[in-house]
Amino acid sequence: MDTELRPTAGIDYPRDFQEFDRWFADEAACRDYLFRLRWPRGYVCVRCGIEATPWITSRGYLHCRSCGGEVSVTAGTVFERSQKPLRVWFQAVWLVTSQKHGASALGLQRVLGLGSYQTAWTWLHKLRRAMVRPDRDRLHGSVEVDETYVGGAVMGGKRGRGAENKEIVSIAVEVHHPKGFGRIRMRRVPDVGGDSLISFIGDVVEPGAEVLTDGWRGYNGLTKQGYVHRQTVLSDSGDPAHVAMPGVHRIAALMKRWLLGIHQGAVSGKHLDYYLDEYTFRFNRRTSRSRGMLFYRLMQQAVATTPVSYRQLVDGNHEI
Ligand SMILES: [Zn+2]
Repeated sequence: MDTELRPTAGIDYPRDFQEFDRWFADEAACRDYLFRLRWPRGYVCVRCGIEATPWITSRGYLHCRSCGGEVSVTAGTVFERSQKPLRVWFQAVWLVTSQKHGASALGLQRVLGLGSYQTAWTWLHKLRRAMVRPDRDRLHGSVEVDETYVGGAVMGGKRGRGAENKEIVSIAVEVHHPKGFGRIRMRRVPDVGGDSLISFIGDVVEPGAEVLTDGWRGYNGLTKQGYVHRQTVLSDSGDPAHVAMPGVHRIAALMKRWLLGIHQGAVSGKHLDYYLDEYTFRFNRRTSRSRGMLFYRLMQQAVATTPVSYRQLVDGNHEI
């Protein structure tokens, strides 16, 4: 399994549920899969740094032939110290990635027979933390950027009164000509000031790209940051039917419908970023021919993601 090259269906990831079920029949098979994902070029002992195939102990630990150190294949991954079988974790990842809209905590709890809602909620949040790759590429080409408001009752217009109780989400969308979208990025921002908006764009859009915005002054500094800035200034009439950024508008509507439909809109402010990550993960892979490919990508990122405690999940500190 080579993580750099394009993974192959039926070899690197299961093609369908039947194959998934056959591959991951027991704990040893799951551990073996995690092992291959984590060390695609061969095992390197985390203690002494020696490259040598370890012994696998009867309890499934990796035993270094050189220093005798033993580690669990799940140490340092999302699955670390879980009391539940890996098989159930794998089923959770399969559910989250194989369904078009993902899974809710309640749905996961029911399907997997998890003892508590809290466990299901925690698992989903741990997986969401693995959905964003820190090294991901920035958007390029033509990119629409706009903000949208999430949560609370709709009062007043865009950037108008009544927006105070809502979360502001910045959205960037690659737009293709003559039509269609590429990838997206989303982030909760504290306000619609230039610092917040331009810092978001700087993080997610490649300098030199064409950035399309409306006439809001918060975007005024874009040219100075090396972007080709194109502004569409609407009339002052404030006609709500007139949409300046159709791409962002469409993505915002889909994302809000997903939040309402799957999660009943029950997303508190500090956790919203993780839901945005999940939406982005799935949206940007929507053209994958196989759902198994999403399973593979999430597993790959899950073994590279430092575990977080329940307390950290509840506190909801989002860092990119
Ligand atoms: Zn060693």
